[in-house]
Amino acid sequence: MNNRPFILKGNITINSNKEYIIGTVIINQKVDEDKSKYVLVLDKEHKDLFEKGYEGYIFTNWLPDNCKEIDYVTELFGIETLINYDVIEFNDDYVKVLYRDDSTDNFIQVTNQCNSNCIMCPDAEEVRNTRQKISINRLLRIIDCIPNDTEHICITGGEPGMIKYDLIKVLKKCKDCLPETQFLLLSNGRIFSDHDFTEEFVKNIPYNIRIGIPLYSDIAKEHDAITQATGSFEQTITGLNNLLKHNLDIEIRVVVMKKNYQKLSSISNFICNNLNKVNHVNFMALEMTGSAYKNKENVWVNFNESTIDLYNASTTLIKEGIDVNLYNFPICKIDKRLYSLAQMSISDYKVRYLDKCNNCIVKEKCGGFFPSTMNIQNSEEEKCTN
Ligand code: SF4
Repeated sequence: MNNRPFILKGNITINSNKEYIIGTVIINQKVDEDKSKYVLVLDKEHKDLFEKGYEGYIFTNWLPDNCKEIDYVTELFGIETLINYDVIEFNDDYVKVLYRDDSTDNFIQVTNQCNSNCIMCPDAEEVRNTRQKISINRLLRIIDCIPNDTEHICITGGEPGMIKYDLIKVLKKCKDCLPETQFLLLSNGRIFSDHDFTEEFVKNIPYNIRIGIPLYSDIAKEHDAITQATGSFEQTITGLNNLLKHNLDIEIRVVVMKKNYQKLSSISNFICNNLNKVNHVNFMALEMTGSAYKNKENVWVNFNESTIDLYNASTTLIKEGIDVNLYNFPICKIDKRLYSLAQMSISDYKVRYLDKCNNCIVKEKCGGFFPSTMNIQNSEEEKCTN
């Protein structure tokens, strides 16, 4: 699946006056249910399956007669990479894959905007400040098209709270359409300092949802210096407490960077003393793109420099009964006693390994590196211990 592109292009012709066509892919076969949810992909050998009523069509190097009044795309490269039940969008002059049916890494990005400006954000500030119009109807349509046996969906931004009550509409739709799916909502948590919003949010969220919220320090001034948003610590802590009152499944995410790695134990103690109803704490290694790369001098810390602090902070939480995971850490870059906490968390299309990893006995269990992190680590490489 690593080779499946998110964007398909070609010398393509699109016949549609609509802003977008979003549908579930079905290839060379009929569907028995409502066809308006589907985009039918047809090759010439299956042209007898052509019938009207689908949301859209992809014709592989052929066109049926009298197709002017339907929405279609043709002359598209990479068509063979689509599989049944992917969700795609025709847009201008390309086809985007919005959901990949063979992936466990699917996400719905509800906005690119954010009300914080974290120094280690893997997105560039320009990306977050370029206003993309992601309409609520488009989001609801995507959810409609995702197969209801999908195991996991991440809802993310930017900051999802930026779309305010539309976020609740998105979550309500998820609850109604995908009752068996496990959701992870990634938010900076500031929106939940609004009590009324939180009450409405709780009433409408899917049953299986975890909310992941970052905390970068136990001291307001230090956390706010990292988010570059005054008052963000206070809002996040108030938000966390508002959510915890409802016994929701909360995960605190601590990104380990130069500005906080020596404070990991203080952060753990703060969580144990003030937020001990959280179920999980994940320590996250950096992805050195976007703002993180731009602010490299203040952000980058070698894996070996944070090893002891990471171990102490993890054991403090574990003793308190809090589940701890390490995300984005290659196994050989952490204390051996924490090996079982390391998760294969980097998306399949991003993960990279070093040449020497080919001889490593734990490669099958190792989550590897982000490409950007590997480049920086390579230049300061330490000896792998495996
Ligand atoms: S050598 Fe490579 S595969 Fe092995 S633990 Fe290190 S990063 Fe992972």
